[in-house]
Amino acid sequence: MGRLLKGSLALGGTVVLLGALKRALNPQPRYAAWEKPGYEEFENKVLVVGGGFGGFTAAKELTEFIKDREDVGVLVVAKDNFFTFWPMVAGIVSSDIETRNVAQPLRRALITAGASFRRAKLTGVDHENKRVTVDGGLEFPYDHLIISLGGQPNFFGIPGVEEHALHMRGIEDAERIRNRMIERFEEVSLMRGEIPESKLTFVVIGGGATGVEVASELHTLVHEALAPDYPNIDPHRVRIFLIEGLDNILPELDPVLRRAARTRLVNQRIEVKTNTLAEEITSSCVRLKGGEEIAAENVIWTAGNRPNAAISDLDLPIDERNGIKVDSYLRVQDRPGIWAIGDCAAIPNSNEENGRGVPPTAQAAVQEGKTVAKNVLATIDGREEDLEEFEYRPMGQLVELGSDFAVNEVMGVRFSGRLAAIFWRLTYLTRLNSPQSKAQQAADWILGTLLRPAVTQVRGSSDE
Ligand SMILES: Cc1cc2nc3c(=O)[nH]c(=O)nc-3n(C[C@H](O)[C@H](O)[C@H](O)COP(=O)(O)OP(=O)(O)OC[C@H]3O[C@@H](n4cnc5c(N)ncnc54)[C@H](O)[C@@H]3O)c2cc1C
Repeated sequence: MGRLLKGSLALGGTVVLLGALKRALNPQPRYAAWEKPGYEEFENKVLVVGGGFGGFTAAKELTEFIKDREDVGVLVVAKDNFFTFWPMVAGIVSSDIETRNVAQPLRRALITAGASFRRAKLTGVDHENKRVTVDGGLEFPYDHLIISLGGQPNFFGIPGVEEHALHMRGIEDAERIRNRMIERFEEVSLMRGEIPESKLTFVVIGGGATGVEVASELHTLVHEALAPDYPNIDPHRVRIFLIEGLDNILPELDPVLRRAARTRLVNQRIEVKTNTLAEEITSSCVRLKGGEEIAAENVIWTAGNRPNAAISDLDLPIDERNGIKVDSYLRVQDRPGIWAIGDCAAIPNSNEENGRGVPPTAQAAVQEGKTVAKNVLATIDGREEDLEEFEYRPMGQLVELGSDFAVNEVMGVRFSGRLAAIFWRLTYLTRLNSPQSKAQQAADWILGTLLRPAVTQVRGSSDE
């Protein structure tokens, strides 16, 4: 009897605990479906365009500040209904990271926090009537408009880049790069006789963090995932080049870390060429300044980004680098009620004496999102004295080169190697917003220590 009672108590306790855990992991939305007022009914309407690092943070912070008030409504409009967790996108190339874990659902997080969401592409701003228009002609009113539309690749007018190179400005781009490598392996395994070198040569242009990570992920894809499944192809026949115009890769990092990264790349047989400029890309080669040519049918462009070109149609002040001009409070110049943050904004940097603005990074966009949320609310409440000047606080940089090596600089501390790779993983795992993605990615990484990665090419998911 005693044993039965103990067993029942243990079972009951477990059920109660699981119920509590489920409630903690699935918080109730601020409003039940039937009680939420429409966005247009709120006295103060804050419209956020863009649901990435900047826009999502701004909206989340605002909903946190107004959780006990009923006078402010927040609506996020973005062209995708997910938030791309950029630092993990390169990992999709080798399948170390699952696409669905990087595409964080926007709706769930925003609706739970009490905001609204519409998936739509911004097409214009009617400044006089304070409304934005989206594709399909629909309009949304605003009292405050926060613009955070991100960036896009900059091809600097180099002939052939747009037509022939793949790039890395979306989850689908990472999938396209992986599919290109698989496609080449499938093609080559059907070929008889001489195989042109250009088929299995991949040239990554741009030696910043994205280029370095992509080159390394390509190496992992070939040697860890594909090599065992294509026994007829010698994986060392695949040549991976990394081309950088400056005299160093990862120029923003400390020289010790740069050297560690370069040694790692050389150990992976990635051919690093610094002080090298690409002058033209064709369907079968990369022409370098000075006349050298690399025979390659596979080129990946990571050498430049610029603010989203969509902002040029919004009648906003734009600076010489194509960013929206804002003051130190993140207010767009001469456009009352409009704010801009993230990669699309030109934000003065109080830490830089040479006039360079805040760099286009996720950490900067998150910090800007927090400041703009405070400043918008202070303006709504007429608390001018509480407006906060934006001050960028760089936290460092983490760059992963394969699953077992990273080079990290965190608050002035530099470290590299396997421990740095574990730090990279833990840092970004905790920063993923969706609990599902966190759990799935952690499980994938644990399984990955036991099982060899397996990849397939789902044709039709990209144009490869
Ligand atoms: C491959 C890659 C890796 C990176 N890795 C790092 C890293 O490790 N660390 C780091 O600090 N930074 C990293 N960055 C930079 C970082 O991702 C950006 O600086 C950051 O995302 C900027 O935030 P944002 O809000 O301006 O733009 P994003 O996060 O890109 O968000 C832009 C939003 O605007 C929406 N949008 C775009 N156009 C329209 C439109 N016309 N209408 C409606 N919505 C639109 C998009 O759907 C998206 O929701 C990386 C960037 C890339 C490309």
